[in-house]
Amino acid sequence: MKTASPLQVAILGATGSIGDNTLDVLARHGEAFQVALLTGHKNLSKLAKLAEQWQPQHVATSDPGSLSTLREAIQGLASPTTAIHAGMEAISALCASDAIDVVVAGMVGSAGVEPVLAAAAAGKTILLANKESLVMAGDIVMRTARASGARIIPLDSEHNAIYQCLPDDYVCGQAPESVHKLILTASGGPFWDRPAETFSDITPEQACNHPKWRMGAKISVDSATLMNKGLELIEAHWLFNLPATQLDVHVHPQSLVHSLVVYEDGSLLAQLGEPDMRIPIAYGLGQCLSVTGKRPLRLPSGAKTLDLLSHGTLAFYPPDDDKFPSLKLARQAIEAGGILAAALNASNEETVQAFLDHRISFPAIARINARVIEKIHNQPVESFEHLQQVDVEVRAMTQNEIHAHA
Ligand code: MG
Repeated sequence: MKTASPLQVAILGATGSIGDNTLDVLARHGEAFQVALLTGHKNLSKLAKLAEQWQPQHVATSDPGSLSTLREAIQGLASPTTAIHAGMEAISALCASDAIDVVVAGMVGSAGVEPVLAAAAAGKTILLANKESLVMAGDIVMRTARASGARIIPLDSEHNAIYQCLPDDYVCGQAPESVHKLILTASGGPFWDRPAETFSDITPEQACNHPKWRMGAKISVDSATLMNKGLELIEAHWLFNLPATQLDVHVHPQSLVHSLVVYEDGSLLAQLGEPDMRIPIAYGLGQCLSVTGKRPLRLPSGAKTLDLLSHGTLAFYPPDDDKFPSLKLARQAIEAGGILAAALNASNEETVQAFLDHRISFPAIARINARVIEKIHNQPVESFEHLQQVDVEVRAMTQNEIHAHA
């Protein structure tokens, strides 16, 4: 039997944590995959090291001004045939080209949406970790993927858990009729059992001290306000085409059940595992090796196997919407549709930064987000360019509110 040629993988944001974890999994499966494109933004010395180690056909920086710096950094490390590129346009074109089969979208921020859209339009398989692609532009990205037949496999641990629990005939972008509800689990962050009266004393340092996952400052604050779960509700809405009424959140402080699918017959299917990103990544890569539909092909990931006996109790609690209003805001954005989710995302990025800069209190994050959302004139999404414009406008609006509040 002839072995199929290795799948060509693009890793966007290769110098970040998704990149580290993806390369760790790929190192275990060299015969099935080949790294064809590595991209980074500012950390060009790391990107050059990775290029030396993996010898990809293409290396790119998303910063258009850094082409010559990247060339210098790579000189003598990568093979002379490695093509070097700069700018999102070049990266998007590569992702859509025949050089690439699978795109691992690990870039952070709204800049990461453009190559995802390009890959979706070209019918590629996308392992999606870029939140903005769904939170800001979920409607456009999923519509594009459905039209081209592209597969979008989420890497976020909750959505990946749901994906794993869906039946094998699942078609990208539509949960089957038999699904009654999805339950996203939330660690609850560091403050879920702290009395609300003391919330205004919370410091950025306390908010960044997440009990389960080591993460960047922005996402740590989002976990502490539960906005991270709110944004994940929005993502789930687009990924699985379900209304807010069919999306639930359970606080689960042990973070071992990563999410659940509730079926019409009363069955709940859950995915459990150690909190290790290599598990969702290995599942996504395994999916790429199954040619049609969603077939469970499991690849060794390097992650430790979860030992339930050493953990004891698994607990679940309802989220407290009064203490953590972010979930309500996200539901509101899902129900209203249009530009509201993109606006909420932009406002939240500004308020979280203001909190980290000690300009506003912890409770003010959600309060100001709510005020901004209230002032938005909602409108249908026309294009990604339209969303980018909304993003800029809402950030300015939010700064005014922060100013008025401080
Ligand atoms: Mg998550």
